[in-house]
Amino acid sequence: MLLRHTPKEIVERSALTVNPAKTCQPIGAMYAALGIHKCLPHSHGSQGCCAYHRSALTRHYKEPVMAGTSSFTEGASVFGGQANLLEAIQNIFTIYQPDVIAVHTTCLSETIGDDISQITGKAQEEGKIPAGKYVIRASTPSYVGSHVTGFANMVKGMVEVFSGASDEKEDQINVIPGFVEPSDMAEVKRITREMGIQAVAFPDTSEVLNTPQTGRYEMYPKGGTTIPELKSTGRSRHTLALGQLASGPAAKLLDAKCKVPCTLLNLPIGLRNTDIFIETLRQVTGASVPEALRLERGQLLDVITDMHQYFYGKKVALAGDPDHLVALTQFLKDLDMDVRHVLTGTPGKKFVNRIAEITGPNVNAYEAKDMLYFHQLIKNEPVDLILGNTYAKYIARDEDIPLVRTGFPIYDRIGHQYFPLFGYQGGLRFLERILNALMDRQDRDAPEETFELVM
Ligand code: SF4
Repeated sequence: MLLRHTPKEIVERSALTVNPAKTCQPIGAMYAALGIHKCLPHSHGSQGCCAYHRSALTRHYKEPVMAGTSSFTEGASVFGGQANLLEAIQNIFTIYQPDVIAVHTTCLSETIGDDISQITGKAQEEGKIPAGKYVIRASTPSYVGSHVTGFANMVKGMVEVFSGASDEKEDQINVIPGFVEPSDMAEVKRITREMGIQAVAFPDTSEVLNTPQTGRYEMYPKGGTTIPELKSTGRSRHTLALGQLASGPAAKLLDAKCKVPCTLLNLPIGLRNTDIFIETLRQVTGASVPEALRLERGQLLDVITDMHQYFYGKKVALAGDPDHLVALTQFLKDLDMDVRHVLTGTPGKKFVNRIAEITGPNVNAYEAKDMLYFHQLIKNEPVDLILGNTYAKYIARDEDIPLVRTGFPIYDRIGHQYFPLFGYQGGLRFLERILNALMDRQDRDAPEETFELVM
């Protein structure tokens, strides 16, 4: 058993992380950049970083992920990577012809202090950026924050470059869906379409990282937010930012830069959070809620009511990213489940308070902690169910606890790219998955005399 050595006794560790519950900033920045149509992400650092970030995304989405790299060697590491980036920008526009290059930094280029905005300014001056093409940038040092911070920084970079202030507003809103699956981004668009709302969702990786097999490789698939759409975000009437950490900074910048007011919401996961999302859409646009969405809501409510006895009082431990954990905790709490441990590797002081506001003070909620700590929490207070990414499977196996995979990364299952967690339908599928895990366990463990056909 891989993690059998995890000690039950918890000792304070201040300078050692064992199995981080997060990954590095550029992965989030790269993912966000892929949500722009015809955008090539570019990693300003060594080839190894870029290879790791690409492979992490490819393993999770099961799609090829293209990105350029400044390919630092010893020279660039000592003297700076300006020459590498200038050459890369010219080569990429000439050979791969994207509309946008999205440059993010790495630990190395941040540590040596490369100034990306100065370098891209020089590229502009030297005519290395063709007319109508763009270079956006984000500072993503991995020794602070996490992949969620990197995502947020790159989305902010989109607003910095593309969103322009205007007194002429358009009859549209912006929705920033957060660091979520392509299927969730598609669900946001479907819900706004159902309500007859004109919305710009950015970034949008639907039909980029869940593309159909056509037999032909497309370097730039048809999905992604287009440049005209990104430019129009400054003329929208309102911004809904889903997930405070991943989407909040860009929404606030849009407000400050272009006077587009914003509302920060939880991710629309589960009945209550989806209700709030749809009600906010209704309030800011005046649209009414169509019968199709009422039907979906009613179906979710029906399953919650019918199956409540299987959820009631079940102890759950969750590990993942803050925006997901807040929304999932609310959903589980509304099902009358007993949320015991909630842990994220992403730093952020408000996280613990937000969880405690939902569950009450008796929860074990932690930010900036690792998976070893999560395992120790479970050893000290066992649970009936674990929600977490693929890395949680070692703990689930060692402790013999069912695991429902959620969040990022999920390397060993499929479905997250295609079936949303968002919305009433996403909630319904998520309930089904939790229920299957709990009922399969009940069947497995039931003695002969209580092994029932109808549970
Ligand atoms: S060096 Fe930094 S950016 Fe590169 S893979 Fe490691 S943590 Fe990520």
